[in-house]
Amino acid sequence: MVQESLNMEKLLCALRKVLPEGESYPLHEPLFCGNENKYVQECIDTAWVSSVGKFVDRFEADLAAYTGVKRAVAVVNGTAALHVCLILSNVQPNDEVLVPALTFIATANAVTYCHAIPHFVDSAYDTLGIDPDAIEAYLSEIGDLRADGCYNKKTGRRIRAVVPMHAFGHPVDMDKMIAVCEKYQLALIEDAAESIGSLYKGRHTGNFGQISAMSFNGNKTITTGGGGAVLTNDEELGKLAKHITTQAKIPHRWAYAHDRIGYNYRMPNINAGLGCAQLEKLLEYVEKKRRLAEKYRKALDGVPGVRFFVEPEFAKSNYWLNAILLDEGVANKRDHVLETLNDAGVGSRPIWELMYTMPMFTDCPRMDCKVAEDIGKRLINLPSSVRLGE
Ligand SMILES: *Cc1c(COP(=O)(O)O)cnc(C)c1O
Repeated sequence: MVQESLNMEKLLCALRKVLPEGESYPLHEPLFCGNENKYVQECIDTAWVSSVGKFVDRFEADLAAYTGVKRAVAVVNGTAALHVCLILSNVQPNDEVLVPALTFIATANAVTYCHAIPHFVDSAYDTLGIDPDAIEAYLSEIGDLRADGCYNKKTGRRIRAVVPMHAFGHPVDMDKMIAVCEKYQLALIEDAAESIGSLYKGRHTGNFGQISAMSFNGNKTITTGGGGAVLTNDEELGKLAKHITTQAKIPHRWAYAHDRIGYNYRMPNINAGLGCAQLEKLLEYVEKKRRLAEKYRKALDGVPGVRFFVEPEFAKSNYWLNAILLDEGVANKRDHVLETLNDAGVGSRPIWELMYTMPMFTDCPRMDCKVAEDIGKRLINLPSSVRLGE
């Protein structure tokens, strides 16, 4: 029997069960249905709109409580959060940092802000994030384990850290990742920008690295307009994160004294107000996003040529962005699918371009990334706004 191939009519018809005709559906739009107005208005009425205020403190406390970390520090965006994580993991100029070949550009950019070098690693089919088994095999070849850490035999540079990114909210296999980090003495930094509300074996993402980054950009599950956070279970790192994101100013009633290079990375109170209101809704939002994923899964079941991506078995994912994978035989139809869906008002996007195809990263070290390349050709994200799960 010849396997049925991709059929645009059938695909669109299936998607119409989730996304009825007559509307257009952006990839991900924010939802404000709680105390957002009230809290932002309060900032304006009290003139506490800027870099300190009660909503910043509350957002940090609420976020720490929700994710189960000891300390959360609110910052201007997720990219800045990653930068801070790398600095506090002691990433030095000319170090290499293992990052996914398939990620949003910010993961790799943040490494370069430390004058370090991104070193790209392959993805796993079951999580879409980096593959700890493949990385372990790779490091056993190119890694030179010395008393003070792991060095790259080919470049002579130290491999300081690894940044697993929980793609579209699906957690990387963290037990395996931690084992690789221990074996090769790598600092573990989670890029949890996409995974607020996602659990790995019952524990919230962002709890597994020494330090982790989150994003509250407008397209994420919850938003502060622009914003991010640094999460950690290490009290000392938490204090340092607060310190260096607030210009490393030594607290004093009037003196401007600073004890190291700092950054103006703090989240304004007005954004934190938005964040507090959004956090109050997070549990509900995640349930709605999971309901939406279930709707897609059912609707797309049996549709030829495509497979809906389902969370790994150890995870409870937030399904930040829903995804389908085209069958290998029809990967060359991807752009046609994107065009047809977008023409029909279904805001769909391909996954990111591989990092090492960008001009600034072509010369960076990397392992063979055949899985990432394959996923890169076949994955399409579907409209995933919270409201669609209602
Ligand atoms: C959104 C995102 C970031 C960056 O967050 P910003 O708040 O936009 O700076 C970093 N990494 C990943 C994987 C992201 O999706």
